Amino acid sequence: MKQPPIIWTNVLLFSITTLVAAIGVPWYALTIGFGWFEIIATIISLGYCGMSITAGYHRLWAHKTYEAQPILQYIYAIGGAFALQNSALHWAADHRVHHRHVDNNDKDPYSAGRGFWYSHIGWMLRDYAGDNKCDYNNARDLQKNTVVMWQHRNYLWLAIATNFGIPLLLGIVSGNILGMLLSAGVLRLVLSHHFTFFINSLAHIWGKQPYTEQNSARDNGLLAFLTYGEGYHNFHHIFESDYRNGIKWYQFDPTKWFIKAASWLGLTRNLRIVPEELIAQAKAKMQLQRAKERVKQRPNAEQLLQLLEQEYELLLARMQDYYQLKKQLLLERKELLVAQYHAVDFKIRYQEFKHHLQLQQQHWQRLVTAFS
Ligand SMILES: [Zn+2]
Ligand SMILES: [Zn+2]
Repeated sequence: MKQPPIIWTNVLLFSITTLVAAIGVPWYALTIGFGWFEIIATIISLGYCGMSITAGYHRLWAHKTYEAQPILQYIYAIGGAFALQNSALHWAADHRVHHRHVDNNDKDPYSAGRGFWYSHIGWMLRDYAGDNKCDYNNARDLQKNTVVMWQHRNYLWLAIATNFGIPLLLGIVSGNILGMLLSAGVLRLVLSHHFTFFINSLAHIWGKQPYTEQNSARDNGLLAFLTYGEGYHNFHHIFESDYRNGIKWYQFDPTKWFIKAASWLGLTRNLRIVPEELIAQAKAKMQLQRAKERVKQRPNAEQLLQLLEQEYELLLARMQDYYQLKKQLLLERKELLVAQYHAVDFKIRYQEFKHHLQLQQQHWQRLVTAFS
């Protein structure tokens, strides 16, 4: 079969930056050496690029898991251009297709079914989409977003300005332009690229599937470290409207922590989470499926299967009772809080009115005494 034409801009960009990061950076480190300023600036720039993709491109724009103030959206838009991963509109449209047709080798733009290389970077090196290029029809909501469209129209100059301008500016400040261009410029870009690309490749190949086996997505704590929390990809593919990817407190999901912390400052709101009951049900269903597979080999399989089914039904019933009561309890707690608030408000008003009355009584007494 004839291969689609090579996209030379992408091939050259990835090759040159990788070569510089693999040869130029170690050479510079060994011969001249990087200072603390370059190292810290590189780590911060890397974090800024990564979080703009995970919190901005992915969880805000592609999945609408929360809402963000325009100022934060502009910060994401600039960071996304700095990460050099195409415009948010293009990225989110592609990503929505990925979720909709996950693992479909013809429709999923970076289907893991086509292997590690293809899903990691290969899909960007040739014009695989051809005539079926994304027309952004699945991102009409984003076409109405002024920040997204501003970035889309100005993407090229934003990408050039951030990728050359930021390291150059930092280099002027530190007095070491070449060192900064190599570290916060090239090394940061290459690491940022591959850390994100791991979500499409490794997060669909390596890890556990606690919630669903309907697609290849996997939960991988180690990968979560490199991807700002996106490593919990099995959870994400089944519950994509949830602003969290790592739902347990001990799971490493700095993107979730950032979105939550930003809500306390009023920068984000309406953070969406999937009801706890649905998550527990999905997990139990998966466990039942796996246990059934294992039990099938046993001599008393029929009996064991029946027992599993019975216990599973009982578990679901108990879950329903528990979560219903929990919901009621939360509602009552909320009502109690409102009542307490009203009581406090009432007390304050009572004191205020009492004070007003006392003042007026004194005033009145003075007045009537004057006329007596
Ligand atoms: Zn996603
Ligand atoms: Zn995926």
